[in-house]
Amino acid sequence: MNNCIFCKIINKEIPADIIYEDDQALAFLDIRPVSRGHALVVPKKHSDDFLSSEDQVLEDLMPKIKKIAAAVMKATNAEGINISTNHGAAAGQVVFHLHFHLIPRFGGDRLTAWPHQEIEPKTRAEIAEAIKRNL
Ligand code: 5GP
Ligand code: ZN
Repeated sequence: MNNCIFCKIINKEIPADIIYEDDQALAFLDIRPVSRGHALVVPKKHSDDFLSSEDQVLEDLMPKIKKIAAAVMKATNAEGINISTNHGAAAGQVVFHLHFHLIPRFGGDRLTAWPHQEIEPKTRAEIAEAIKRNL
């Protein structure tokens, strides 16, 4: 991908604080971290986002995410870690090369939690049915 910033990092065309590399995957620190040790894990094979990526790519990546997350937690003395991917601009995706965020969490770090809301059981059941029909 010509204009993909993460492909450029993978190809060493621009620098990054690389913390893990093998033939299929790369991990490096986020340039604007949410917390100390915030890292990104990317497959070397470009896909724009989570849902367009190949199952095999995800299968290969997940154990590496686990290994790197453990190292990030140890190195930062984190008490927890958020492991997530943003799919689509509406979900906050800015870089369209699949990546997983590893965000170390510390007690009292005051990072905003998801705004949970109440929902009627009937509405919840309808949504559950609609999702099942689409699987
Ligand atoms: P997204 O919002 O797409 O899920 O996350 C993209 C992340 O990539 C952001 O947290 C942003 O700080 C990070 N980022 C964007 N450009 C660069 C870069 O050139 N180098 C590094 N290390 N991180 C970047
Ligand atoms: Zn890319």
